[in-house]
Parts: sequence; structure tokens; C-alpha cells
Amino acid sequence: MGQGSSCWGCFQSLVDIHMNLATVLPQLDIKYWQCVVDYKLHDLENYPDKSIAVGLYEGMARTEEDIHLLKVMREKCQTLIAFGSCSCFGGIPGLANFSDIEECLDVKFRENKTVSGGEVPSENLPAIAPVVKPNTDYVDFEIFLPGCPPTSKLILTAVTALLKGEPIELEPHTVCHYCAREKKDTPIDKILRPYQGIADKDRCLLEQGYICLGSATWGLCEGQCVNKGATCRGCFGPPPPIMQDFGANAMSMLGTYAPIPPEEIKEQVKDPLGLFNRFTYATSHLGSIRIKREEVKKK
Ligand code: SF4
Ligand code: SF4
Ligand code: SF4
Repeated sequence: MGQGSSCWGCFQSLVDIHMNLATVLPQLDIKYWQCVVDYKLHDLENYPDKSIAVGLYEGMARTEEDIHLLKVMREKCQTLIAFGSCSCFGGIPGLANFSDIEECLDVKFRENKTVSGGEVPSENLPAIAPVVKPNTDYVDFEIFLPGCPPTSKLILTAVTALLKGEPIELEPHTVCHYCAREKKDTPIDKILRPYQGIADKDRCLLEQGYICLGSATWGLCEGQCVNKGATCRGCFGPPPPIMQDFGANAMSMLGTYAPIPPEEIKEQVKDPLGLFNRFTYATSHLGSIRIKREEVKKK
């Protein structure tokens, strides 16, 4: 298990399989897990290549340490899993690519509201890459398990299959497939902010004007938000083939449903980047242009 720059939420979801841990843990021989087991990086580096059956890499690779760990895990693991949406698509941290590295360092250190005279630390801070590149730019993965975080049920399904030596069977359906709300395929005549009005609990949220990205999103969560009254924000990314441009798909979906003048859409969608590419900016077409621009600036 390896953790790049991440929030630990994916591993928390793994731990949240609760009593099933009692079945799973005795079958695992954990070789490395920074925050849980007292192995050091040099232990991992010294294992023979491909000597570890399965590796899970959580987070994206923003620092040189993250990038190194990712590459070492690739060398040592027979099967490497991109674990969670940060690892698959850059996730929420990928939104940092909307700013350049100096602006990010301003927010984090120099102009941080909770300190005075903030400075970028000169010690104990690994070198930070100028942009969040997708992990797939550094290594190949055999399996993508997206989600912010992946659900405990999905993790248990995957781990159980791996322990049996079986392929992980993942249904390709979108979130809409699992949504119990009635969809009448009617166009949207208005766009509502989430706090406006009271949604009919039985009808498709999108058709009521609330932007729900369920039809563009891989439904591995089985529609857990939409069935509890909230719109889907797309945290599982696109369905297979997984590296599609999620944001472009989601915008095109909205265009299909909403024959509304662009000015009106613009007025109601205050943060289009955060809405359509919240979890996938680093792997989007727009995001890749941004990455190239930063790389040119660096030369
Ligand atoms: S995918 Fe979500 S839960 Fe997992 S590390 Fe990234 S931000 Fe945290
Ligand atoms: S768009 Fe959202 S609310 Fe509508 S059916 Fe799909 S998941 Fe359900
Ligand atoms: S419904 Fe959408 S936002 Fe909610 S967990 Fe599923 S994919 Fe993520």
C-alpha cells in the first residue's frame, strides 16, 4: 500500500470494511504501508522486482517523493491498482493546476490566513512538481478503482476477488442506472442552484434543473448520493473506457438536456471547472493543455 499526496480517505474507506477486516487481514502479508505498518521506504526499495502480488497507490504524485514511491511500487508489484479518484484522475488536488505553482505556494504558505510572516519551508519539504500530472504519465496500472473515496463495498469486492485470484468484475453502468428517480427524458428549461426550491424526491434531479452528473459518471457507488437526495458530482469519474474526458462528456450531457441560452447557463453555473472537472481536471483535455503550458514555462 502506498500513499502519495492524498487525504487518506481511500484507505479510510478500506478500513471501513469493518468486521470483514477480520476475514481479509489474516490473508494479507503487508509489505509496506507508510501510515500503518512500520516498514521504511528502503525496505520497499530492497524487495526484488515484481515480488509483491498487488499494490494499491492512493493519491496523486505531486512531490518528488510521491513520484519516486509510485515508480518503486510499479517495479515491485505484479499488479498495481490506481486506488481512488486522485490516483486515477488527479482528483480534487488536480484542481491546483488551475493556478501556477507560485500561487499554490502563496495560498499554502506565504499568505496562509492562519499564520503571519508565512514562508515556504526550506527544510523537510520534498521538491514539488510544477503541475499535477496524471499518475498514468509516470506508470501503467493494471486496475483502476476510482471514487472519492471508493466505497467500502467496492473495495471489499475487489480485495475478495484478488485474494481468490479472480478478475475484478466491475459493472460498466453509469450512476443513472442505479438511481431510483423517475426520468421522463424531458428537456430542462431552467438551471437551479442546489439551495433553490425543494426537489421532488421521486423525479430525476437533472430534469428538475439541478445539475446532476450521474449520466456521465461510472456508477460503482450504486448511486449513493442521488438515492439520498443529493446530486451526483461525478466522483467516480467516467465509465469504461475510463480515461475519457469526463468534463467534456458532462458538459455535452448538459447541452443535450438544456436548450437554454449560454448566458443563462453561465449565470447559474458559477464554477464550471469545479463543477464539470472537480475530480478529473488533471486528465482532461483542458487540463493537459495547462500541464503543457506549465512545462513550456519551466524550460
Ligand atoms: S480520492 Fe478522495 S478520498 Fe481518496 S485520497 Fe483523493 S481526495 Fe481523498
Ligand atoms: S441524472 Fe441524476 S437524478 Fe437523474 S436519473 Fe441520473 S443519477 Fe438520477
Ligand atoms: S452518486 Fe456521484 S458523487 Fe455520489 S458517490 Fe456516486 S459517483 Fe460520487
